[in-house]
Amino acid sequence: MTKIKRRAAAVILLVVLMLAGLGFYIYSYYKDGMMWASFPANQSVYNNGRLSVGTITDRDGEILAKVSNGQRKYSDDSAVRKSTLHVIGDRYGNIGTGALYLFEEELTGFDHINGTYSKEGEGGTVTLSVSAALNAAAYEALNGRKGVVAVCDCVTGEILCMVSSPSFDPDNMPESFEAPQYDGVYINRFLSSVYTPGSVFKLVTIAAAIENIPDLEDRTFICTGSYETGGGDIVCTGYHGEITVDEALAVSCNCVFGQLAEEVGAETLGEYADKYGFTESFAINGVFTESGKYEISDHSYNVAWSGIGQYNDLVNPSAMLRFVSAVANGGYAPELTMLKGDNAADSEYMIKNSTATMLGEMMSYNVYRTYGEERFAGINMHAKSGTAELGGDIAPHSWFVGYGEKDGKTLAFVVVIENGGSGSSAAGNVAATVMQKAFDICG
Ligand SMILES: [Zn+2]
Repeated sequence: MTKIKRRAAAVILLVVLMLAGLGFYIYSYYKDGMMWASFPANQSVYNNGRLSVGTITDRDGEILAKVSNGQRKYSDDSAVRKSTLHVIGDRYGNIGTGALYLFEEELTGFDHINGTYSKEGEGGTVTLSVSAALNAAAYEALNGRKGVVAVCDCVTGEILCMVSSPSFDPDNMPESFEAPQYDGVYINRFLSSVYTPGSVFKLVTIAAAIENIPDLEDRTFICTGSYETGGGDIVCTGYHGEITVDEALAVSCNCVFGQLAEEVGAETLGEYADKYGFTESFAINGVFTESGKYEISDHSYNVAWSGIGQYNDLVNPSAMLRFVSAVANGGYAPELTMLKGDNAADSEYMIKNSTATMLGEMMSYNVYRTYGEERFAGINMHAKSGTAELGGDIAPHSWFVGYGEKDGKTLAFVVVIENGGSGSSAAGNVAATVMQKAFDICG
């Protein structure tokens, strides 16, 4: 009897060990399966260490990247290849923020039931939110100048256009990237760069002023062409005389904004820059954006310039796009996404509702009063320009940001042209072209 009992105990022990082993295997499979499947030595999905399966399309199903005979192929259209390079990523993995890298799991076609199911070795398909035609139009509008053009749907957060310049044609690569025209060519400037904002930062200053200066709308200010602070004079771009805050924003009066910054104070301005997401890094499909900067100074001259978007202010273009989307969206900032119909997209309450409404009205007035409604025919535009001074003889960065409404759709945009000169004319013209195209394609 004891012999049988011992044998039974041994069998039970064996079964327990087997179950434990199976359990561990299943656990590991779920935990690390993707890593096993996408391990670069797995010849069925990698070729020389590069992902060799999967198709990426734009929002309308146009193929932006696929694999043919084990080789990565880009779009047939060279304008699309150049304008979507930073969205997709290059063949050699130098652009680490593109879809080839971000959506590796979906492209591999891995799932936990079938493992690497790769029908005819094709992998999975990823449908991006960008429009190839819109990207190509935006790249063309930049006309070789360095910078960023981005457009998104203010409600869903879907990024419809994301162009970073300089770029190159991945199918006709230049022999060398040493020429200055290729400075930072592997960087997606929309996600990973920061710029001096200049007057587009006045949107933050005016929001802080709206919420912290009770009689703001009833006051008038005097611009004599310069404004005296304790530590030096703030110089304006003109002589604006007696004006209201709405007019001050529309003519981008430095005297009024220097004064508002001083009245609100650097601490409070810093709190608003934080609250509106300008000083944080946030994730877009797993890529962490470059965070901007607002430095609190106790020197009145610096505080005044910081409210004008100069001093040491720095802004990331994707943070600006999220902010203007929130203005359009009653204060709710959508979660930006590069995937079409991404249901995970969520929104965050960023701007007090009444403040967002006032900002929107002021940005609409800017277009009426200064930029010219006729430049944006058929679109109800809301905008702010920025001409960010960089000191010395360096040409300023040109910014134009805001949103447009047409046929019940609201699209936000940000345009930055490095050393592009006047914000209203240089970046404003690119925005005018791109927004017409955006509503034609995605409206
Ligand atoms: Zn002025």
